[in-house]
Amino acid sequence: MPATPSPAFDSAYVDPVALTQRLVRFDTTNPPGNERQCIEHIKSLLDAAGIQNQVLAKTPGRPNLIARLPGDGSAPPLLLQGHVDVVPADPAHWRQPPFGGDLVDGYLWGRGSLDMKSGIAMMLYAMVRAKADGMTPAGDIVLALVCDEEAGGDLGARYLVENHPEQFDGVRYAIGEFGGFSFNLGRRRFYPIMVSEKQVCHLRATFRGVGGHASLTQRDNPMTGLARFLQRVQSRQLPVHVTPESRMMFQAIGKHLSLPARAGIAALLNPRFTAIALRLLGPRGRTFSPLFRNTVTPTLVRGGEQLNVVPNEVSVDLDGRLLPGLGPEQLVSELAEVAGAGAEIEVLRYDAGPAGPDLGLFDTLSSVLKEADPEGIPVPMLMPAATDGRLFARLGIQFYGFLPMLLPDTLDFAATIHGPDERVPVDAINFGAGAVYRLLQRYGRSP
Ligand SMILES: [Zn+2]
Repeated sequence: MPATPSPAFDSAYVDPVALTQRLVRFDTTNPPGNERQCIEHIKSLLDAAGIQNQVLAKTPGRPNLIARLPGDGSAPPLLLQGHVDVVPADPAHWRQPPFGGDLVDGYLWGRGSLDMKSGIAMMLYAMVRAKADGMTPAGDIVLALVCDEEAGGDLGARYLVENHPEQFDGVRYAIGEFGGFSFNLGRRRFYPIMVSEKQVCHLRATFRGVGGHASLTQRDNPMTGLARFLQRVQSRQLPVHVTPESRMMFQAIGKHLSLPARAGIAALLNPRFTAIALRLLGPRGRTFSPLFRNTVTPTLVRGGEQLNVVPNEVSVDLDGRLLPGLGPEQLVSELAEVAGAGAEIEVLRYDAGPAGPDLGLFDTLSSVLKEADPEGIPVPMLMPAATDGRLFARLGIQFYGFLPMLLPDTLDFAATIHGPDERVPVDAINFGAGAVYRLLQRYGRSP
């Protein structure tokens, strides 16, 4: 691990590491969620700090919390946003208990340690410290901690955005999950800050045939069409697109790389060579591929009700992700092209993403990161997945993935988020907590 330019951390405030541990120990696996105790714990911490807050819930037991630290009004309110729920964890596949929050080998282990209870701890640390210091930020600091992100956000961000939009009046910028993590490329240390994300587009492919008794030869069994479809979808990739968002991201990265690597980036951004460049990049290419393609991943198969009856219909649901600026009809036609005849494809859910990013806060976030890590290079990032940011975007809020962490190369970030052995370096939590605090100081002030 590189030397850690860790901020001076004063334990007179909330200890962000101990707080992350405490939050991880609340089992907020969604489904079913059970976020209430975790939110109550955070509420008591804010109450003790004298920070005004309230709980808003669509369903009892699935609360959301909004807190506000008043600013002097010289800048619009700034939103700090996070979710307290986590995805399931099977202890059988973990080296440490998933809800233990244990400190082992410099890491804090547990489900949610990265995604995103450490991020919530950073925000709480910054807010409580600002209050204790008597800081008056340029704009109100609004903290929104929600339930239900991992299952679509209907009870969390979507509920707040649709039923309590007044809580976010005047907010232009927000920070939240997915971004600000260090990432080494060509001996440079980049900090991708998420400024745009792919769009959720869930699809269903249905196959029809002739049902009948399973003891008889059934040529028109729809299972056959399904099998062929899955085979094709899994073995082929959808066509490449170079969007303005990925162009911006890779141009920013390319500027800091040596000549051969820069040529590789130029190839990546030329649609005629993108697919080849991705292949030549090997494992890195696999990481980057979803930034240049719509994707569809089969996840749920339905069909058949009885073992001795051939069904006349089977279907598969696909988790589709669309690049920004493209619409669901594009994904349906690309999938139909790959799948061939026989599949009826319908759109189950489409959450349109925001228009092109507003980079008005980017320089402030960059300067905060550079102060924390002078060797770090912040770059704007297109994120291959979706966050609650897409819901806040409906209120005209530009969302930034900004939970700063200096991570060792040895941590396979993508594999541990939502996977077994999720863990976060203890130093990275302190690094991020200091950076978010500096953001509250810096926000809306001239440099
Ligand atoms: Zn998350």
